[in-house]
Amino acid sequence: LAPTPYYYTQPQEARLLLRKRERYSNKGTFGHALLLVGSHGKMGAAVLSARACLRSGVGLLTVQVPRCGYGIIQTSVPEAMCLPDGHQNVLTGSSEIEGPPPSEYSSIGIGPGIGKAPETLAMLKTLLPTLKKPIVVDADALNLLSENRELLSKLPKNSILTPHPKEFERLTKKWDDDYQKLELLREFVKTYNVVVVLKGAYSAIATPEGDIHFNSTGNPGLSTGGTGDVLTGILTALLAQGYDPVEAAVLGVFAHGLAGDRVAEERGPIGMIASDVIDALRWT
Ligand code: AMP
Ligand code: MG
Repeated sequence: LAPTPYYYTQPQEARLLLRKRERYSNKGTFGHALLLVGSHGKMGAAVLSARACLRSGVGLLTVQVPRCGYGIIQTSVPEAMCLPDGHQNVLTGSSEIEGPPPSEYSSIGIGPGIGKAPETLAMLKTLLPTLKKPIVVDADALNLLSENRELLSKLPKNSILTPHPKEFERLTKKWDDDYQKLELLREFVKTYNVVVVLKGAYSAIATPEGDIHFNSTGNPGLSTGGTGDVLTGILTALLAQGYDPVEAAVLGVFAHGLAGDRVAEERGPIGMIASDVIDALRWT
C-alpha cells in the first residue's frame, strides 16, 4: 500500500524539528537574511516581517525598503540593517548603498507590502534567475507571479510560497470543493518544484513530492492584517539558519499558530494584532 500523503503536525513533531542553539556560536552561525519588503503606505508589513524574523533566531538581518521606509526601519527595528532602495516609493532592487548581491545572503524573503509597481516586477524578473537557494515568496510577490506566469519556473527549487486562499486561487484557479483545492495544491507543487503553505485554519503545507502536512495550531484571532507578514519573517529566519524548506515550513507555521494560541489564551482572539503574535513567539 502506498503511504497516505497526509500528515498532521502536533507538538511532538514540531519539537523534534527544533534545533538547539549551539553553544560555540556567533551571529554568523545563524545566517544573514535579506527581506525585500515594503512600499509607500505599506511599511507596516515590512516592520512586522523584520521583527518576526529577528524573533525567530536569525543571526543578522538586512531589510531592503524603498527610500520612504528608511527612517521607519531604522527606528522601529534597530536590530536590523537597512538598505535604502534606489526608488522613493517602491522596490526596484537597486540600492543607494553598496551591498553584497542578493544571492550571497543565507536566505531571502520577498513580498510583504511590496505592491505591484512595474519597477518591482522588473526587479523580480532580474532577481529570480540569479538565485540558487530556496527563498520565501509571499503577498504581492505571489500576485506578480500569477500575472507573469513565466516567472514561476524561474523560482529556485524548493522555495516556499505562502499564499492565502485568494492568492492561491490567482496562482491556480477557482476550486469547487476542498478535495479539488488539495488536488490543485499537489499538482502545483509538483509542477514548479516548490513548497506551498496554503494559509488559513489548518494551513496545508504541500511538499514537491506531493505530501501534505496540516497544521494543528492557530485560531480565528489570526484573521487580521499583518499576521501573514509575520509568518514570512519567521520562515525567512528558519531558512537562514539552515533548516530545509519543508522543515522550516512545518516548524514555522506551527510556531506561528502556537504564538497566536498563546495570545488568544491571554486576551481572547478578538483583540489580537499581528505584533502580539511576534511577542508571543517561543522557540522552546
Ligand atoms: P495573511 O492572510 O497573509 O495575512 O495570513 C494570515 C495568517 O493567519 C496565516 O498564517 C493564516 O494561517 C492565519 N489565519 C488566518 N485565519 C485563521 C484561522 N481562522 N485559523 C487559524 N489561522 C488563521
Ligand atoms: Mg498576506
